[in-house]
Amino acid sequence: MKKILLSFAVALLCSAGTQAQRHRTCSTHEKYLQAVSMDPSILEQRSVLEQQTQEWVANNASQRSNGTNTVLVTIPVVVHVLYQNATQNISDAQILSQIEVLNADYAHRNADSTITPAAFQPLMANTQIQFCMASTDPSGNLTNGIERRQVSVSQIGNTSKYYQYSQGGLAAWNRNSYLNFWICDIDGGWTLGFAYLPGTAGAAYDGVVIDYNFFGTIGTAQALFNLGRTATHEVGHYLNLEHIWADESACNADDGVTDTPQQKGENYGCPSYPQTSQSGGRCNASDPSSMFMNYMDYTDDACMAMFTPGQGTRMQAGVTSGRPGLLTSIGCSVLTSILSPGGKIGLTIYPNPSAGEFEFTTGFINSQTEIQVTDIAGRVVLEKTFMPGDRLSFDLTQSPAGSYFVDVKADGHREVKQVTKF
Ligand SMILES: [Zn+2]
Repeated sequence: MKKILLSFAVALLCSAGTQAQRHRTCSTHEKYLQAVSMDPSILEQRSVLEQQTQEWVANNASQRSNGTNTVLVTIPVVVHVLYQNATQNISDAQILSQIEVLNADYAHRNADSTITPAAFQPLMANTQIQFCMASTDPSGNLTNGIERRQVSVSQIGNTSKYYQYSQGGLAAWNRNSYLNFWICDIDGGWTLGFAYLPGTAGAAYDGVVIDYNFFGTIGTAQALFNLGRTATHEVGHYLNLEHIWADESACNADDGVTDTPQQKGENYGCPSYPQTSQSGGRCNASDPSSMFMNYMDYTDDACMAMFTPGQGTRMQAGVTSGRPGLLTSIGCSVLTSILSPGGKIGLTIYPNPSAGEFEFTTGFINSQTEIQVTDIAGRVVLEKTFMPGDRLSFDLTQSPAGSYFVDVKADGHREVKQVTKF
């Protein structure tokens, strides 16, 4: 009996130890090194991209920092869910909870931004990048942007099968038009996720992979990584951000962003402010601390809260130079060429997704504007006519969560877009 009790105690100790040691790990840098070892020409492509990025940043940074650059990039998203059992088959609502976190974090609308120390608060930025669930698939069919497939391969995210349909996975949608997410078991929970930097992946697997335990804020999402920050971090890589400590601990390298303090090594858990001489501390005494609350460090979800203007500009450059197809993707439009014989009306709807309150603009604000909102099944949810000067908005707070089509007519023109209510 004593022996049994003893082994029970040891088992408890091990699992507690595992819990205590759990910290963020992201294998993006390893994936990059692997890619380079297989194809050294990636180094030259990255070098060209870095030059373009620095040029773009030099030409655009000043406009961004004084707030005159309001170009908003909206990236269509497809989520491929690969599951072995019902638990891993995460719900639509869990997926939408992640998209909401991405949009909040990238717009600096995150409610927990107050955790940022006062010295860094002036550096919290709206990146002007947003995300929408795809409404049109690569064949032009309507979609909710979510694909699912049951798989027999365990820890498929740790193999090359996750993106190969013939191997049981789900193929990427055209990377020039969509940000591809694969949600699956990677390696049993140790690696939270990984992404490919622009110019480092083949078209078949370019995108972001996240373990089903660390995507979104509900369902299978597990503390300490259940606030959606794994995707915020990985999408940063996908848009060409490096780790804030530049993946070396001798203060020799920099992350290529001028307004993030140079940092020795990564931080785990929830460090106290300031971090100066610690292993995750600052490199230069002129900085108040390392910026461990930046999304590109390794801290826990509840302890990261910001991108800087420099990171926002670098990501905008990452789209413009590294993923330009996303700028003109119609992944979140609905057959606008057929529905708009008079031409598009420049319809922009925001925030999207939202809890139900949406605003919109068109290029015809001096005209009478008609709006009709239908749900994914085609049922009319609301109809409204606006006179010139009216505030263009509509309210779906009383409607169920999900996708809706917003059909707007003005001055003989028409355009339809999809919105998501969470
Ligand atoms: Zn990372």
